[in-house]
Amino acid sequence: MRRHRNVKIVATLGPASDDYLTIKSLHLAGADVFRLNMSHGTHDDIAQRHKTIRIIEEELNSPIGILADLQGPKLRVGEFENDFETLTEGQGFRLDLKSDLGTSKRVSLPHPEIFAALSNGSVLLVNDGKIKLEVKSFGKDFADCIVKAGGVISDRKGVNVPDVILPLAALSDKDRTDLEFACSLGIDWLALSFVQRPEDVREARELAKGRAAILSKIEKPAALSKFDDILECSDGIMVARGDLGVELPVQNVPPVQKRLVRACRAAAKPVIVATQMLESMIESPVPTRAEVSDVATAIYEGADAIMLSAESAAGLYPVDAVQTMDNVAVEVESDPTYREIIEASRNARRNSVADGIVSAAREIAETTDIKAISCYTQSGTTALLIAREKPRVPIIAMTSEIETARRLSLTWGTNTLMSGAKQRFKEAVVSAVRGALSEGYAVENDQIVITAGVPFNIPGTTNILRVAPCNERMIYAMDPE
Ligand code: PGA
Ligand code: MN
Repeated sequence: MRRHRNVKIVATLGPASDDYLTIKSLHLAGADVFRLNMSHGTHDDIAQRHKTIRIIEEELNSPIGILADLQGPKLRVGEFENDFETLTEGQGFRLDLKSDLGTSKRVSLPHPEIFAALSNGSVLLVNDGKIKLEVKSFGKDFADCIVKAGGVISDRKGVNVPDVILPLAALSDKDRTDLEFACSLGIDWLALSFVQRPEDVREARELAKGRAAILSKIEKPAALSKFDDILECSDGIMVARGDLGVELPVQNVPPVQKRLVRACRAAAKPVIVATQMLESMIESPVPTRAEVSDVATAIYEGADAIMLSAESAAGLYPVDAVQTMDNVAVEVESDPTYREIIEASRNARRNSVADGIVSAAREIAETTDIKAISCYTQSGTTALLIAREKPRVPIIAMTSEIETARRLSLTWGTNTLMSGAKQRFKEAVVSAVRGALSEGYAVENDQIVITAGVPFNIPGTTNILRVAPCNERMIYAMDPE
């Protein structure tokens, strides 16, 4: 699906969006990647959504990324008798280990490690910090709290305990089961929640056994202090502003977002800015001006992708939310200031031949009338390096590997075209020219740049660059048969 923007859109699927027609409309409206949230829904629900996405991908012949998001050691309350309760300031509320359904007086919090680590006066935050509970007294299986800030509490809402260090394993038993299940379905990205250490990422990578690229969600202060090491061993990053803004003072989130996006751009690894981007669209067909501005900011920063959570999973206007992101992206990216900001914040690291080749490709495209930069890539590395250059012309990644095409659906500015395995560079040139013409990136006699690593099959060897005119003479000269 050709898009007329660089930034990618990730849409979370849920009860509001799990039927065939809605998923198809979301993709057509602009969703490049679908997020399956393992925190909600049964394995059957997840498998059904996965199957529907793959059917649509096949029908539209348009690679779609699937990102499975593991719950991680996220603490959640249990379920309520009446689905939800409204807590008011000053009332008492108990959390305990009982499995009974919750009422207006108590709810289950099935995490003994929290009760073991509490002290009087500890603060528990529920539902992204909207509800604040202060512990008055506690035992090994309960905590009696006073409601300091009230609100609606409903089934399985998240709990943060910012001032308590919890000795939690990186992957719970549920995460391990979910990881195996998701990988066996066939996913492209595996997102890890509440990563604290690089070892957490390595552990997940071992379990995934190459079946998915690994994306670390940055939502704990501990992850920030080890960010460079976490980035190094991850394939991508999510700035998970929901929990981050609960665990840290909320005003710290924008500078952290800027820092993480820059670091990921420099490392040529995709970064998603997530959470509350169009929050009001859960209930309203139009966003607030502040939300539009937030989406625009992430795009001006050069984030690879922007994400919808409840807006598309549980809101009333999932397709409108995707359409809004698409509209904002098209507008921002046509602003001359956008190019200025993107170019001023380009990271000029030049450590390898590959870095030099992709930089040259971008410069040639800027100084002459080039319509696209095409690359032939099997692992996706060349495409990631070109995307780091943030060129003004479209990037076309040609690959014979559907997994690579799907993973690249998260990468800034990268369009993918499936193309049979190639033995020689000239075959890649012919395919690039044909692809650029047939997909409308170029018309007869336009020029495109083509790069690849030769010999093929060895990732990270980008070493060849060619400028080719898009016409039959060129194709014949390359491939007389
Ligand atoms: P979540 O992660 O939606 O799984 O909590 C994103 C965030 O915390 O921002
Ligand atoms: Mn989170």
